[in-house]
Amino acid sequence: MRIAVLGAGLAGITSAWECLRDGHDVIVLDRADTPADFTSKANAGLIAPGHAFAWASPRVPGIMLRSLWTRNQAIRYRPSFDVRQWRWLSQFLRQCTTNRARINTLRKARLCLYSQSRLQLVTDETAFPYDRNTGGLIYFYRSAQSFEAAAIKSEILASQGVRIESLDRDQVIARDPGLADARDIISGALFVPSDESGDARLFTHRLAQRCEERGAQLQMRTEITGLQTESGRVTAVTTSQGPVFADAFVLALGVFSPNLLHQLGVRIPIYPVKGYSVTLPSGADHCLPKLGGVDEDNLLAYCPMGSRLRITATAEIGNYNTAYTPDDFRIMLSKAQALMPRAADFSTPNYWAGLRPMTPTGLPLIGRSRWSNLWLNTGHGHMGWTMSCGSARILADLIINNQPEIPLEGIDPATMGMA
Ligand SMILES: Cc1cc2nc3c(=O)[nH]c(=O)nc-3n(C[C@H](O)[C@H](O)[C@H](O)COP(=O)(O)OP(=O)(O)OC[C@H]3O[C@@H](n4cnc5c(N)ncnc54)[C@H](O)[C@@H]3O)c2cc1C
Repeated sequence: MRIAVLGAGLAGITSAWECLRDGHDVIVLDRADTPADFTSKANAGLIAPGHAFAWASPRVPGIMLRSLWTRNQAIRYRPSFDVRQWRWLSQFLRQCTTNRARINTLRKARLCLYSQSRLQLVTDETAFPYDRNTGGLIYFYRSAQSFEAAAIKSEILASQGVRIESLDRDQVIARDPGLADARDIISGALFVPSDESGDARLFTHRLAQRCEERGAQLQMRTEITGLQTESGRVTAVTTSQGPVFADAFVLALGVFSPNLLHQLGVRIPIYPVKGYSVTLPSGADHCLPKLGGVDEDNLLAYCPMGSRLRITATAEIGNYNTAYTPDDFRIMLSKAQALMPRAADFSTPNYWAGLRPMTPTGLPLIGRSRWSNLWLNTGHGHMGWTMSCGSARILADLIINNQPEIPLEGIDPATMGMA
């Protein structure tokens, strides 16, 4: 079968890889110059089943409200005149109950764990380096109160088989001497030994290269403008380079996935949630943390990537704008510098901002659309790196009519009446 994959981010390239493994002919289309040039470019790098909590939870509406007048909230709401934002927001707020948060977290954890096992298979098969670090991730807390609450909350992930260890301050420093300067700041941490990290952009680039070696065609600098349909099927995708015909089409356009379906009169609930990342060089004179992790009381993620330190923060529900100014990074950089002043050269920051393709539940949409040969693999939100390889395998299984290895509750667009 000839399959056209729309989008060359994490979701698109991993989809292409799995479709090639099944013996299909694959063409990947993207408007960027290179794969992983949009949201998959400079994320936090964490492969984190141990952090699979749903973002929509009972405390989030209060945080969003406070963000209207205080700047330092980790989750910020920027009201817009865009009706798409209001629609998404009302669906998101409906997920902010204890029960929905629990269900969404359980489903996310299942997909994350499955995806991590599939990432291992891809890594074994391809053996290319991508600054992978498999030593675990440290989720630390500044206040004893939030640490205690987190230990209770983590039971839900433990129930899914995630091994979580509780560490006191000294154990944290023993586990990662790179946090030694933060000794007086840290109250305790949850350590997930099976969590890992890696550079998602490097991974996507190298996997794209392997896809080409296996015969895939990567057609970059190609704007996708629409879908042609006939008798319940998609016949072609229209692009700036002319129509592209295929037997099946995979929609993996991240935050822009809703646009093509909208032209066909179908809505899918994906909206951008902006995040900021800064990458700092780290040399022989520096003392990088050994492991990645999250400063939980500030939702500040950090990750050593080879000879770089990446720091990310903020979830801003606003619009499609990826612009930033150095001022957007001031608070996160000062917090990171207080935690690990010797970790990297803080005087040469490389700034970036990206748009997480969020659904209200935090679960992606994977499956067949209303058009029998149009498939979705999109909406992975804040965990698209963690969920990429498993999502791609689920998609590929569905295309060849194989039973996926995990249940699809909450992710199959057809059963949710969306596509
Ligand atoms: C600050 C931040 C930190 C994050 N940290 C983590 C983390 O630690 N762990 C984790 O698991 N996840 C993390 N994520 C989430 C993860 O990065 C995303 O979920 C993932 O990158 C989404 O991949 P995607 O392929 O769906 O979208 P994208 O990477 O955006 O790919 C979509 C592609 O479609 C192309 N495209 C769109 N429209 C068109 C068009 N009309 N024509 C042609 N091409 C088009 C774009 O050019 C792009 O290449 C983070 C995200 C952010 C922003």
